[in-house]
Amino acid sequence: MQVTGPDDRWAWEEIDLGAVRRNARAFKQIIGPRTQMMCAVKADAYGHGAVECTKALHSGGASQFAVATVAEGVELRKAGIEWPILMLNQCPVEAVDTLIEYDIMPAVYQVEFALAYGERAAALGKVGKYHLAVDTGMTRIGVLPADAVEFRRTIDFHRGLECAGTFTHFATADEPANWDFELQANRFAETVEALRNAGLETGLVHCDNTPGTIMHPKQRYDMCRVGIGLYGLQPADITRTRIDLEPVMSVRARVIRTVYPQVGAGVSYGMTYRVPARGVQVATVPVGYADGLARVLSNRMEVLVNGQRMQQVGRICMDQFMFAVPVNTARTYRPVHPVEVGDIVTIIGRDGDDEITVDDMAVTRDTINYEVTCDFGLRLEKIYV
Ligand SMILES: *Cc1c(COP(=O)(O)O)cnc(C)c1O
Repeated sequence: MQVTGPDDRWAWEEIDLGAVRRNARAFKQIIGPRTQMMCAVKADAYGHGAVECTKALHSGGASQFAVATVAEGVELRKAGIEWPILMLNQCPVEAVDTLIEYDIMPAVYQVEFALAYGERAAALGKVGKYHLAVDTGMTRIGVLPADAVEFRRTIDFHRGLECAGTFTHFATADEPANWDFELQANRFAETVEALRNAGLETGLVHCDNTPGTIMHPKQRYDMCRVGIGLYGLQPADITRTRIDLEPVMSVRARVIRTVYPQVGAGVSYGMTYRVPARGVQVATVPVGYADGLARVLSNRMEVLVNGQRMQQVGRICMDQFMFAVPVNTARTYRPVHPVEVGDIVTIIGRDGDDEITVDDMAVTRDTINYEVTCDFGLRLEKIYV
């Protein structure tokens, strides 16, 4: 089926929810039936649309969901999602009411936050479930392993609090035989044991992100937290041979204008591209850096149009970019197959036998695939296929 985009804009993201479901199933398969799968749907499901993806992931075997902010959790609840939601951080104390009202579990690592959360829960006749975050070496959030038992003893007197989980996050799970990973894993195991020896309920114990889930099946504990892989993207080259994943996001647009400029004419801000002596057809596409097409890609990326690769030319603007169609008939100075207004342009995805991947774009941008899809989620309308 050829998607032609929303009625009000010739630019969109196509999201393959079947691929999301199949990727989730592939992870559930390697995780096994006895371990729960929590799916990270933060940042609008890495730019893929949190509500729709959450439903697809649940049908693929996910039992819990992870967000980064209060607003992300509230969005899921307002859409009618009733499965457990963990916010992978604390939030300002002022927002604890919202957490309780919408049944969003925070990660907890500071006493004042924990007690404010418990206090509010108790006042409302509820129990505030939380997951204890342990900083085993990432130096981001969490209590230090040496402080974990003491921390729990300080807050556990509170009848408004219930520890529903204990987790840590790895900094180097994507590197094979990594000493820092081993150190974090050992510190986490020791912390969990210390909590249990102190008679404290740990709730669900979890530590694996996508690369951890793929590379380190030995320390699954009760749950894995899978993210990037669900969206069909590999967290590292070494995971490529371990699990087959299907791409989920395509980014497409339609040509809004074409022109045959004079030889030497400049294209876009700063005129960093000029029409060469043979001439070119220049086509304009209504996608820019405000849609996540990073400006650093200017003059360095290609697009697919009617199955052909075309060079993007000139600086990428906030809302548009241009590409050049080579002229290949010397006599008429016109392309054999000129591009026309309305033609579909593939920025990410497959067109005929050719494909431009998120990973290709991440390499050109000198970043990781995660950032590329998050950025495309900024403004483009999502069309679920
Ligand atoms: C984002 C995140 C995940 C998922 O990471 P992926 O690399 O996308 O699998 C898991 N745990 C925490 C704490 C995270 O912030």
